[in-house]
Amino acid sequence: MFCGISKADFLKDEVGRLETWLKNNRHGKMDYMANHFDKRLDPRLLVDDAKSVVSLLLNYFPEETQKDTEAPKLSKYAYGQDYHFIIKDKLKELFQFIHEEIGEVGGRMFVDSAPVLDKAWAKKSGLGWIGKNSNLIHPKHGSFFFIAELILDLELTPDGPMKDYCGTCTACIDECPTNAIIEPYVVDGSKCISYLTIELKDELLPPEFKGKMDNWVFGCDICQDVCPWNRFSKPTNIAAFQPHENLLRMSKVDWHDLTEEVFQELFRKGAVKRTKFKGLTRNVKFLTN
Ligand code: SF4
Ligand code: SF4
Repeated sequence: MFCGISKADFLKDEVGRLETWLKNNRHGKMDYMANHFDKRLDPRLLVDDAKSVVSLLLNYFPEETQKDTEAPKLSKYAYGQDYHFIIKDKLKELFQFIHEEIGEVGGRMFVDSAPVLDKAWAKKSGLGWIGKNSNLIHPKHGSFFFIAELILDLELTPDGPMKDYCGTCTACIDECPTNAIIEPYVVDGSKCISYLTIELKDELLPPEFKGKMDNWVFGCDICQDVCPWNRFSKPTNIAAFQPHENLLRMSKVDWHDLTEEVFQELFRKGAVKRTKFKGLTRNVKFLTN
């Protein structure tokens, strides 16, 4: 786990970027992204008297990946148990620790659960830079991290931001199968496989993406897998992020024969349940039909 601190004030550097991204409809049908514009940019609107944003990175990089290279693929973050619950528990522990050490401190915990620009805060807190693929990259450990925050009414010494080390590299842009990285640092969410396979609830996936999914059925890791900084990724030691014992052994045939019972068994506790059985099978069928 890595931790960095920022002063809780207005994220002025993000205003223009967020505005343009939304105006160009890069969020597709993720309407919630357009809500709470002001709160996204100012943590003081989320927590009374907020003074500091504590950003935390939690490594989920797995020891092993799926065995059958022809099988439909899951993003690595979805191998284990649903991170929301695991991280919430860890944040509670940290909050408790702060109470014990410092006394009465007010604040809130966030894991993907409110309008917080987590990557922008992690960058501001010196935990890495935001790469051309729009992921936060830690210079010694890569980008396979969950990001969470504590917004506190406690004054803390901020850490400084970090330099961008993408340099002349364009690997993520070159390898994205749907050309979703429309320019360095700008991902058109509506073209991204993560959006298509998880967020988009339509009955059918848009036909223009036929043949472009590169076998992904829940999320996509390509722009992280090809990032040279991820050669520094080390396997997580968090037991809850380990995959179900049968998951990585599933063959292409197993995936295409997936039943609701097997889905429940594999993903009952996992983030994949978000698509429900119907959504995941829609994605699997899209690869062949
Ligand atoms: S996650 Fe996949 S589809 Fe989305 S930008 Fe990265 S490579 Fe492209
Ligand atoms: S692949 Fe290259 S350009 Fe893309 S985020 Fe990584 S270092 Fe930056």
